[in-house]
Formats: sequence, structure tokens, C-alpha cells
Amino acid sequence: MIDYTSDAEGIATLSWNVADRPMNVLNADSTAAFDAAVRRALEDPAVKGVIVTSSRKDFVAGGDLDLIRRIRTAEESFAASGPVSASLRRLETGGKPFVAAINGTALGGGLEIALACHRRIVADDPKIQLGLPEVTLGLLPAAGGTQRLPRLIGIKNALPYLIEGRKVAPAAALAAGFVDEVVPADQLLERARAWLLAADAQSAIKPWDAKGFKFPGGAPQTPGPTQLFFGVGGGLMAKTQGLYPAPEAILACVYDGCQVDIDTGLRIEQRQFARLATSPATKNMIRTLFYAMGEANRLADRPRDVPRRAFSRIAVLGAGMMGAGLAYVGAQAGLDVVLLDTSLEAAEKGKAYGAKIMDAQVAKGRLAPEKREATLARVHCTTDYAQLAGCQLVIEAVFEDRAVKAEVTRRAEAAMDADAIFASNTSTLPITGLAEVSSRPAQFVGLHFFSPVEKMPLLEVIRGEQTSEATIAQALDFAQRIRKTPIVVNDCPAFYANRAFGMYPYEAMTMLGEGVNPALIENAGRLAGMPMPPLALIDEFSVELLHKAMKQARADQGAAYREQPQDHVMVRMVERLDRPGRKANKGFYEYLPDGGKRLWPGLAEQFPLAAEQPTVDAVRERLMFAQSLEAARCVAEGIVGPRDADVGSLLGWGFPSVLGGALGQIDTVGAAAFVEACDRLARLHGERFEVPEALRELARTGGRYHPA
Ligand code: NAD
Repeated sequence: MIDYTSDAEGIATLSWNVADRPMNVLNADSTAAFDAAVRRALEDPAVKGVIVTSSRKDFVAGGDLDLIRRIRTAEESFAASGPVSASLRRLETGGKPFVAAINGTALGGGLEIALACHRRIVADDPKIQLGLPEVTLGLLPAAGGTQRLPRLIGIKNALPYLIEGRKVAPAAALAAGFVDEVVPADQLLERARAWLLAADAQSAIKPWDAKGFKFPGGAPQTPGPTQLFFGVGGGLMAKTQGLYPAPEAILACVYDGCQVDIDTGLRIEQRQFARLATSPATKNMIRTLFYAMGEANRLADRPRDVPRRAFSRIAVLGAGMMGAGLAYVGAQAGLDVVLLDTSLEAAEKGKAYGAKIMDAQVAKGRLAPEKREATLARVHCTTDYAQLAGCQLVIEAVFEDRAVKAEVTRRAEAAMDADAIFASNTSTLPITGLAEVSSRPAQFVGLHFFSPVEKMPLLEVIRGEQTSEATIAQALDFAQRIRKTPIVVNDCPAFYANRAFGMYPYEAMTMLGEGVNPALIENAGRLAGMPMPPLALIDEFSVELLHKAMKQARADQGAAYREQPQDHVMVRMVERLDRPGRKANKGFYEYLPDGGKRLWPGLAEQFPLAAEQPTVDAVRERLMFAQSLEAARCVAEGIVGPRDADVGSLLGWGFPSVLGGALGQIDTVGAAAFVEACDRLARLHGERFEVPEALRELARTGGRYHPA
């Protein structure tokens, strides 16, 4: 795990080489091996100084999440994180100079090892990343990161790395002051050795272990940092609503730990870490953000017997908002993209969308002009279906109209290669129905992208009744090729993400119609950790759109249509009041000339306030449980699996990761408590809160969607 060498000049080299894992990680075994190597170097009188480096491409990637995931108690947490922290303190105070020769990416525990060393030298490679990203998984740097970084570069400079998990390249780390030198990669070890050979007794003493240490930028209780803590603490609350324990725990580590000596500070850090590592919030984040998303990205469920499909050329039919984004994303991934519309101008307009995005990147120096040219050159605008020959995949993104889709399907299939796949990006029309016009429905699949395509990471792969497993497998290959995270969803109206997410705006409109104060509804959505309050969100994608979907459902279902509790609110907003949403500058909000907005005062007259208002928690419960319940129905109906349901909720509509996802919320609350709440809500508010039998069974048996 640690390659140990020492030479005639008294320089020992400890080189990380955790061969049984894809990357060097800190776990019980590797930490023990490292500690043994540190002790050996310290105890060997022939060793004068020590280089810590890596025998692999990366330096050290951080803590082993397999280990952290299993932590149940504070004792287990101390046992997991304590030895690393203690070993690094031993290294730091052992009286011999240690230099980190950082040859590759050093994140989390990796950077913490380097911070414990007496000097940090990094190879000059902009691809190397340095940072402490623990916070993004609900954790904190527990190997001294919260204590050493502020003592090294000051509290103000350290906080963005700790609280936001900022990662930077070597040059920026040098500028920030937590790296001492950036040198050509082939001189890295040589420079580390040169520093050690020139080192004296002082070189092995950290500033904070020396007499008269002055905290850079001031200690926590001096005026500057005090002000800073007020501001940062307030900003944090505004951003996380107090739902995410990790940034708060980090702030506490810095505030408390930097007022005492570093050994006490390190103990504070261990305790805060134990609090996080045992919390449901952190377990939820690790499970969904790391494991579930990792599995989805690796295509863990892909049918194995289908050969992998290589993509080089695809076609996009319809160069509107979605088609334009699709063409750009495809070209960016190195694919040739035929972009077809009814006129060449329309297709060119779609191509210009990607050009505009790249122009901005070129202007900021983030993209080389040649790269922009090369990407654009891969987009081939046309009106000619003959161009579809040679494409492995054709995605239609034409108007949401069955007749238009039917026509392009027929024309495309007549021109496509026999083994090519046809995909529809429809957002509302079931795939099985669209595939009825197909001459090869086994090769017909739904690829439901989200807008804007280049930003939204999720791709719903929709399996129609006749879609073959081979087609699903190849659709997954395509998702991976363009770096989207796929979830596989069985065909149903609205598919999974829009169906479950839709409950959030619907429940909000229902409450508005009942006379719940709209400000209360908005605040409850915000406090629940949703990315946007519900009424503001409806305005963004337009009330009109939901109204249109309702009218379509009415037309499709005829007499069988059952009036929904939110319908009358949409009818009033769109048909009577002509307030379709943001694009018309009038919806639930009014939009002010200065760019601001406020809830439309007329709402009070249209939807008079009920005499008795619910508590904010009651409103929040309705908004959040409605989404989870619909997700549970989707799982019960076999539309989507639990893992994909949670991944889809985080990536598709920004469901709070602290809950682990729409189903994660049910596990977090406990199925029994969730069902009890839904039964109460069903009695009070109607059958939409009725629980599917499978969930009731889960509650009865004390089960969970995801094993604890
Ligand atoms: P859009 O109106 O912006 O674009 C549609 C494009 O299709 C237009 O450029 C139009 O000229 C072209 N077109 C129409 N008929 C055509 C034909 N016969 N042949 C070739 N091109 C034709 O629509 P959009 O918002 O990009 O949506 C496209 C599809 O994607 C719809 O099915 C929609 O439901 C779906 N979708 C949209 C979103 C969204 O947020 N807008 C999200 C997911 C999926």
C-alpha cells in the first residue's frame, strides 16, 4: 500500500500505492500502512527527511466511502477517522521534515496528508485538482483539514474550500497559498529532495507549533473574522435553510477549533465528523450522490449480453429549443450530428444556439476558438432525410403533436440504416402509442431529455411496450457517450420525473385554491430545500403549459376525465385572468421593471385567504410528501426502480439531496410514519394522498426502499 525506499543521503520516500482499489484511498489498511511507514522514517536515525508521494497517476483521492458508509456509532466514527488524524499529527510533530510531492489529483484526505507535511510541491499540470470536497457528500475533512487550512491561509481564504468544496488547479492553489511550489512534473521529486537536503531544524516545525504563532488574517474572535462568521453563517442559512448539517459542522470546527491549540482543534473536528458520519442526512447524500449515481453512470443495470454500441453519427429532427441543445451536446461529445428541420434557416438557427454558448466560453478564455470551430463543423444542417443514412441513432424533437411526430417517424425510418435506433424526446406522449406508426417498434425508444439539454444531467430512457432490451442497452450506451446520467423508465403518461415532480406545483396550486396564503406556500417550498418556491417555478415554465396539459388530458379521456383539485386555479389564471407566467411578465408573480418580482397582489382577491391558515410544516409536508408518494406509486406500478427514482429526483428536479431522493424521504421519515401521515392527509385533503398497497406493506413490515 505504501512503497518505502530510503537512500544514502538519508531521504526516505513514502509512495502511496493502494493497488487493490481503483485509486489511492484512505481506509483502515492503507492508513495503518502509512502510519507504519511514517513511524519507520521517524525512528530510523539514518533518515533526515521524507518525501510523501504516489506511485499512481493520482496522489490520493480521499477517504474510502465504503468505510464511511458503514459507520453506525460515534465510536465507529472515531475508530475510522481517528487513526489518520493521529498519524498525520505524528508526522507533523515528529521532528523530521516531510515534503508532499503531489504528482496528481489530491482531494479530501489526499490534500490533508499534504497539509500535514511541512512543504507542498505540485507538478505543473492544470488537470491536477486540489481541494476538500467532503462537504458535497455531507462530510467534513476529518484528517485535520478544517484546522490546518485556516491556520495556513487564514479563515477567510479557507472557508470557500471547506464550505463549498472548491477544487482548484495547482496554479490557483499556489496563489491561494496552500501550495509552496509548482514545478515541471519531471522535476517534482528532485525539487522535493533538494528542499529536504537544505532543510534545518526549523523546517520541521509548523507555524502553529512554534512560539508566538499569529493566525493569518486574525483569529476567530478578532474583529475581521467575527464579522466574517456572521456573514458566512447567515449566507449559509439562506442557501441551505439549515437542512444540510455538513457546512454548519465545518463552520463550527473552524470557529471553535481555531480558538484553541491544534490538538484540541483536531479533537473538535473528530467529534463533528462523528456527528455527520452517523447522521441520516449524510448517509442519504452518500448513498444517492455517490453510489446510486455512480451505478447509473456505469450502466450497472445494462443488459450484459448486448454488445456495446459505438456512436459516431446521429440525427436530430427538429431544431427548436430541445433539438438545438441536443445537437450541441452531441457535437460536443465528438459526434457528427445531422440537424434536420422543415427549412434550412430553422436548422441553422438551431445550430446557432450552440455557437452562441461557445462564443461566451471563448470570450471568457474557457474554450479555444479552434475547438468551437471543430464542434460546429460536426453539426450538419439539412432538410433532406437522405442524410439520415449512416446514423446510428435518430432523435426526434419536433412539435409535441402526434400527427407531426408520426410523419417524421415514417419519413425517418424510410431513410435510416436497418440497425439504427429511433428515439422520441416527447415529454408527454406515451412511447407505446407513438411507436404504433413505426415499422420496427423494437428499435423505437423514448429519450426524454430535460431543458436546457446542455445543463441538465438526467436522461430518462423510456421503454415502450415493444422496445427491445437491445435497444434499451444501446440507448444507455448513448447516454454514457454524451455523459448524461440515465435512468430506465417504463412507459406511462408523463413518465417518471415529470409525473412525480408535477405533484409539487399541483399541490401548491391546490392549496392556493383552498385559500392558503401564497407567501406561506412559497416559504414552505423554500424551507423544504426545493430549488425554487412552487408558484415561482410554475411561472418560469408557465401556467399555460400545465393548463395545456390539462386540456389535452380532458380531450384524451373525454367523459372519463376526473376533475383535479388544481384545475380550477389553472383555468382562472389562464382563461379568465390571462396570467400565463413569466414569459408574459404576469403569472402568480408580477415582474417589476427593475428585474425584481413579487407575488401578484391580485391573488388575494382571486383566491381569498381562508380564515384558518395551516402551519408552515403542514404546508411543507403536503408539498414534499405528495412528490414522494407519487414516486412510490411509480415504483409500485413498476415504472421505475427505487435507485433510479432517487437519482431521477435529484438530477431531474432538484429534490433535496439531504433526503436522499423522493423515496429516500420515505426511508428517512420511516415508512410507517410516512403512511400514517398520508392516511391523515387523504382524510383531510382527498384521495390523491392514498397510499399504494406496496408501500403500506413496506410500512407494515418495517421495510425500506434502500437497505439501511
Ligand atoms: P420547439 O417548438 O422549440 O421546436 C420544435 C422544432 O421542430 C421547430 O424548430 C420546428 O420547426 C421543428 N419541426 C416541426 N415540425 C417538423 C417536421 N415535420 N420536420 C422537422 N422539423 C419539424 O419545441 P421543443 O420545446 O424543442 O420541444 C420539442 C420536443 O421535445 C417536444 O416533443 C417536447 O415535448 C419535447 N420536450 C420539450 C422540453 C422542453 O422543456 N421544451 C423538455 C423535454 C422534452
